[in-house]
Amino acid sequence: NLFTEIGVLPEIAAVLTELGYTAPTPIQEKVIPALLTGDTDRICLAQTGTGKTAAFGIPLVQLVDVQNRQPQALVLCPTRELCLQVATDLSRFGRKLNGIKVQPVYGGAPMGQQRDGLRRGAQIVVATPGRLRDLLDRGAVSFAMISRVVLDEADEMLQMGFLDEITSILKAIPVARQTLLFSATMSSVVRKVAGRYMQEPSEILI
Ligand code: AMP
Repeated sequence: NLFTEIGVLPEIAAVLTELGYTAPTPIQEKVIPALLTGDTDRICLAQTGTGKTAAFGIPLVQLVDVQNRQPQALVLCPTRELCLQVATDLSRFGRKLNGIKVQPVYGGAPMGQQRDGLRRGAQIVVATPGRLRDLLDRGAVSFAMISRVVLDEADEMLQMGFLDEITSILKAIPVARQTLLFSATMSSVVRKVAGRYMQEPSEILI
């Protein structure tokens, strides 16, 4: 499996083989090493279907400290459907790594189960902005250990009116972090968020 050549752990590469991912897509070739080495923030202009979920999901899973039950990575996405899809994909990538927990957090469902999941411990949180801010305001989630943040489909999230939620969430996360922003289009509001909450991001075009 060619993923091992860009630094992916054999335990994860074995799962990728089972899923039929034998070689990285172009976006995965660029994003996986950038996240694994933690170098700088990135803006990735990429459509759905390019393999972007695995591009950020594989390194997030690989970099988790399984001994620590605190959230260490956060993925923000626009809809409940995408949130569940991304959470399922990430859990799958980490299937052979013991003790990894990915918690989906989204609106339109009772809060209790998500709250309990966070209380029991999850290293990766995949969330829609409204519900996550709610849980943050109630003290149900800690951002103290988060060092990697992915804004998935940023243009969609901002078009849906999540600017306030996204900015209050980003302000609550330690600045010593790597932030990746994925967007199909580059609008002025996406640029504004990138300019304010990312550090000297470089752009990846697919
Ligand atoms: P995404 O752009 O993340 O929505 O992914 C698009 C589709 O491509 C999904 O169905 C993935 O399962 C699939 N996929 C992602 N990466 C690979 C890969 N390296 N090889 C084969 N299929 C892939």
